Amino acid sequence: MLHDIIVKWIILQFEMVRSETVMESVELKSLSNLEILESCTLCPRMCQVDRRTTKGICGVGYLPKVSNIVLHKGEEPPLSGENGAGAVFFSGCQMKCIYCQNMGFSQKGVGFEISAEELACAFLRVQEAGAQTLDLVTPTPHIPWIVKALDIARERGFKLPVVYNTSSYERVEVIKALEGYVDIYLADIRYTDNSYGMQYSKVPDYWDVTQKAIREMYRQVGPFDEEKMRGLIVRILVLPNNVSGHDRALEFIASLDKKISVALMSQYIPHFGAKQDELINRKITKDEYESALDKLIELDLDGWMQLDEKERVTTFPVDWRCRI
Ligand code: SF4
Repeated sequence: MLHDIIVKWIILQFEMVRSETVMESVELKSLSNLEILESCTLCPRMCQVDRRTTKGICGVGYLPKVSNIVLHKGEEPPLSGENGAGAVFFSGCQMKCIYCQNMGFSQKGVGFEISAEELACAFLRVQEAGAQTLDLVTPTPHIPWIVKALDIARERGFKLPVVYNTSSYERVEVIKALEGYVDIYLADIRYTDNSYGMQYSKVPDYWDVTQKAIREMYRQVGPFDEEKMRGLIVRILVLPNNVSGHDRALEFIASLDKKISVALMSQYIPHFGAKQDELINRKITKDEYESALDKLIELDLDGWMQLDEKERVTTFPVDWRCRI
């Protein structure tokens, strides 16, 4: 019996080492090289599917897919400016949050496929519409096309700061490869406990992965600097019953740099599967939000608080198609 357990343990250790070696050995090609989509390793899911014929866990096929392109006045004030951030909402996501307010396009596939050329046109059109920034929302499965589109758009005069709006469940190697393409990382911390990541977003290693990814974002762009329109902003959506582990998240941010701006968000609503969950089936209380705010103040961090829902102006459509 003891012998069997030891043998199983040795096999398990061997399998873990082998799988890490396989993951390490997958070469990350240039991000504008579409070959990466033939064995996709763009996010920590590392599906290695051929996206010309098969969708990975994110639900995205070969071409980039967009659900909406708008001027978004509800982002953090420096990102929205007067006219709004030029938000491009991409379809699909590597996370599977049971409460996702964007479920239609993040997990159900709503959206339309476009080419890199059309995407470049859209970037230029949001610039013409007066957007303060280009806000790429859940961009990771679409990176090769985004990089191509940015190259095309920049050749045609595109100059807006590029915001990478992410769950932070990202591969460090991919974030490193984005250097020079991204000006501002708008990075969520959803949980600081891997088990909650599994329970609520179906990822096994959220906190481990996220800390490494955010460290790399910080190394690349530093804390957010409004004059330079460059840097890292961390968003924390406060969840009921401290499922977000916001104290630990704030301590992590403070340990990196107290100048990192934090957006402390109160707008959680228990959509979809969350309605049946005993921990997150309600909105947060005033006390829960204030406790997170107290921690932010105690740590001498700064940033933005969420405005009341009724005060929030949201989105305005952009006529994004190019007239060629
Ligand atoms: S981007 Fe999609 S297909 Fe690629 S590894 Fe991630 S989940 Fe899988």
